[in-house]
Amino acid sequence: MSRYVSESLRTKVENRANGICEYCLITIEDTYFGGGIDHIISLKHRGQTEFENLALACQPCNRSKGSDLGSLSESSKFLVRFFNPRTDEWSENFRLNPNGEIEFLTEIGEVTAIILGFNNQVKNC
Ligand SMILES: [Zn+2]
Repeated sequence: MSRYVSESLRTKVENRANGICEYCLITIEDTYFGGGIDHIISLKHRGQTEFENLALACQPCNRSKGSDLGSLSESSKFLVRFFNPRTDEWSENFRLNPNGEIEFLTEIGEVTAIILGFNNQVKNC
């Protein structure tokens, strides 16, 4: 199980994402710390270093997610997985409000927005 993401694989992931964090949709170029390649299912949980399991993520999203796969939903108290950029539609789980904040629409959106700190990222940078 390799952590190493080759330069060509990294470029493929960055191009698929159009340079945008696949979780919070910030343009990586506009961030101070840049972005990284996230293992959607972390290596710790037997995710693989392969194109379909990788996502472009800004540093606050990547750092906050770490090797986690999900969290407890405040509304249902159930363990809920995070948003998966490969299998979930962003607009079904989140929306931008007029203040530019990300609101969640589902439990998947809820746990993802809270744990990744979508609306706290200015403080986390
Ligand atoms: Zn992000």
